Amino acid sequence: MKIVLITGASSGIGRATALRLASEGHHVVVGARREDRLAELADKIRADGGSVDVCRLDVTDRADVAAFVDGAADRHGRVDVLVGNAGVMPLSRLDSLLVDEWDRMIDVNVRGLLHGIAATLPHFQRAGGGHFVTVASIAAHGVVPTAAVYCATKYAAWAVTEGLRQEVDPSIRVTTISPGVVTSELADTITEAGAQEMMRAYRAAAIPPEAIGEAISYALAQPSTVDINEIVVRPTRQR
Ligand code: NDP
Repeated sequence: MKIVLITGASSGIGRATALRLASEGHHVVVGARREDRLAELADKIRADGGSVDVCRLDVTDRADVAAFVDGAADRHGRVDVLVGNAGVMPLSRLDSLLVDEWDRMIDVNVRGLLHGIAATLPHFQRAGGGHFVTVASIAAHGVVPTAAVYCATKYAAWAVTEGLRQEVDPSIRVTTISPGVVTSELADTITEAGAQEMMRAYRAAAIPPEAIGEAISYALAQPSTVDINEIVVRPTRQR
C-alpha cells in the first residue's frame, strides 16, 4: 500500500487515477480547488472500500502545495508517490494576445509542477525512496497552431521531469505520462471561439481517463528496480 498524492484530482485524469489506485488498495490524497467535487470523489472511494484524504489545493500557491504534501507526511508518516497532474489548457492563437491565459498555463502547468517537486523531494530523500509521476502530454512532443503556449508548458513539464530523473538518487523513480486526447473537462478552459471549434473536432476521438489511470497504475506496480521513464497513451484513431 502506497501513500499517493494526486494534484488536480477533482475531474478527468486525476479523478480516474484516484479511483483506480484506491481500488488497488493504495491510500490516495486528492487535491484540487473544487472541494465539492473532491468530497463527491471521496464518498465514492469510501463507498467502494478505499481510503482517501481530501485537501483543497491551489498548485499555483507554493505554501498550499507544501501544506498538501507535509500534511500527508504528518498524517501517514510518509509519502510514496506524487502524481503531478493539475493542468489547464486555454488554447488560442498567439496573435489573440490572451496574455493572462498564457500566464495561467505557465503558473499551473509549470510552476504548479515545480511546487510539487519542491515540496516532495525532501521527503523522498529522507525516506530513501519515492516516485514522481508527471502527467505531461503529447503536447510535450509536438506543436500545433493555437497550442504554442500550452505545448511550451508541456515541453517544460517533460524537461523538468526528465532532468529530475537524471539528477535524483536511483532509489527515487520518475515517470512521465504523455496522454493523447482523453475525455475530461480540459477543453472547457478555452475561451477563443476558433480554438474551441478546432478542439471539438480534434477531441471527438478521445479515450476515457481510466486509460491513463491504468498507465499510472502500471508504472507504480513495477519492482523498485524498474523505472518506467515515459508512457505515451494515444487513442488508436489519433495520428
Ligand atoms: P480536467 O480539466 O478534467 O482536470 C484538470 C484538473 O486540474 C482538475 O482537477 C482541476 O481542478 C485541476 N486544476 C486546475 N488548476 C488547478 C490549480 N490551480 N490548483 C490545483 N488544481 C488545479 O482535465 P484533464 O484531466 O484532462 O487534465 C489533467 C492533466 O492531463 C493536465 O495536466 C492536462 O494538461 C493533461 N492532459 C490531458 C489531456 C486530455 O486530452 N484530457 C491530454 C494530455 C495531457 P480544480 O479546477 O478543481 O482546481
